[in-house]
This record gives sequence, structure tokens and C-alpha cells, in this order.
Amino acid sequence: MSRKKKYTFYKCRDCENDFLAKPKQGKKPFCPTCGEQFYIENMMPVWIERPFQYKQHWTEEEDELIILGRQMEHTYNRISESLQGRSMKATQNRFYQLQKARSLVEQGQ
Ligand SMILES: [Zn+2]
Repeated sequence: MSRKKKYTFYKCRDCENDFLAKPKQGKKPFCPTCGEQFYIENMMPVWIERPFQYKQHWTEEEDELIILGRQMEHTYNRISESLQGRSMKATQNRFYQLQKARSLVEQGQ
């Protein structure tokens, strides 16, 4: 079974911004840029697993940088600066994930 969901491409005629949204049936979404609803045009439906590429997979290199950074007692903010396109929050979450994964492995032994 496919995990893809139906999203719709919209275009705001006011600020020329196009965006992806998943609005309720028969309702227009608000433009994420200007907050306007009136100038929104429905462009086309698209089937995708998730909107945008905001969930990039973490590479081993990135994981190592986070772990090393924490061992050196760097802040998440500082660590995220050395990672391309990762926010402080994302870096923090990833560290928690890594810790959790590690503790599960230790428990299993
Ligand atoms: Zn707009």
C-alpha cells in the first residue's frame, strides 16, 4: 500500500507564491506568505509521501559530527552551524534519536 497522500499545488496571485497544501474538502488554504485566501488559485493535485523535502535522511557523517560535538560540549546551535541545512531543533532531535537507539542496543545485549 502506498503511503502517498494527495496534496494540491496552489498559487497566490497576490504575491506570486506557489505552495503545497492539504486543505479540507472544498476549502481554500491561506497563502503562507501573505496570509491571503482570496487570491489563491488551484493549480494541480499531486500525490506525494510528504510535502517538500524537509525530512532529509541523516548521513553517518552528520551523526558523527553531532555526537562529536556533544562530546566536546558544543551547543546544538553551534553543531547545527556545521551541518548544511539542519536547524538547531533538528540537530537536537537527532541527538535524542541517536541516544535512544544506542540505549536500545545496550539493553538488547
Ligand atoms: Zn500571497
